[in-house]
Amino acid sequence: MSAGMDILKHCTLCPRRCNTDRTKSPGFCGETDKVRIARADLHLWEEPCLVGEHGAGTVFFSGCSLKCCFCQNYEISALGKGFEVTTRELGDIFLKLRDMGAANIDLVSPTHFVPQICSALDMVKDSLKIPAVYNCGGYEQVQTLKMLEGRVSIFLPDLKYYNSALSQKYSAAADYFPAAINAIKEMVRIAGKPVFDPNGVMQRGVIVRHLVLPGQRHDSMRLLDELASAFDTDQILISIMSQFVPVYKAFEHKELSRRTSTFEYNSVVDHAVKLGFEGFFQQRSSANTHFIPEFYDCKYF
Ligand code: SF4
Repeated sequence: MSAGMDILKHCTLCPRRCNTDRTKSPGFCGETDKVRIARADLHLWEEPCLVGEHGAGTVFFSGCSLKCCFCQNYEISALGKGFEVTTRELGDIFLKLRDMGAANIDLVSPTHFVPQICSALDMVKDSLKIPAVYNCGGYEQVQTLKMLEGRVSIFLPDLKYYNSALSQKYSAAADYFPAAINAIKEMVRIAGKPVFDPNGVMQRGVIVRHLVLPGQRHDSMRLLDELASAFDTDQILISIMSQFVPVYKAFEHKELSRRTSTFEYNSVVDHAVKLGFEGFFQQRSSANTHFIPEFYDCKYF
């Protein structure tokens, strides 16, 4: 096991800090030290500046350290779907996506595999020539993010909740907001202000995503207030998402058994605009399970 991988023997890669020896058994995230993915392909449904002409080169990693009851990707985050790849194969997948015309390498739910992802990026760094995007749930350790400096230039974190009772209830993470806001500060330090190429394709920067949940618009607005006090509005872009659909265990919570209303979504967008944020706002038609990609549990390419 090389130096950067030592942490996997007493894993503290995410704020769970569960100290699991992942060479022997899975941690709270459900994953051992063997990298597993469930899909690698061009993806058109990210923010337009990440899609470019042909799509983002997404790699969906199996497992997750959050336990969101409404996770659209629950088949891979919670139910274990996916297949094993070596670090070398992961690097080859990055190059294949580049050859397919990907605007970037979009690493989805990468937190618990950061050391292996760093190794794969290092293997291809001289030939990759497109930015890597760290597309995560926001529940991150600053020390883990530091490993990405010089390797990842775009961060795409969720910021899901302000209220700790809410984050505990829906994602089993009472410490979500303090962990996420500190993580976003570190991401801004690493990536800097947003930078785009002449075609409007993002090359550096941070986009903070927020999914408006049914019944929680006041929490959304409070979270935006906190972002506005932590950052200048030109340091980050905001993506306010309306795509909530009740899936997985959302039906266990009566208030999550419906879509977010137009009024709820628009009031959060209005608040973001009032605070001076710029970014991306979604069509309500995206609140549809047709936008969830197909996942695989064996090598399909
Ligand atoms: S990444 Fe997984 S094993 Fe490591 S601390 Fe987080 S939940 Fe535990």
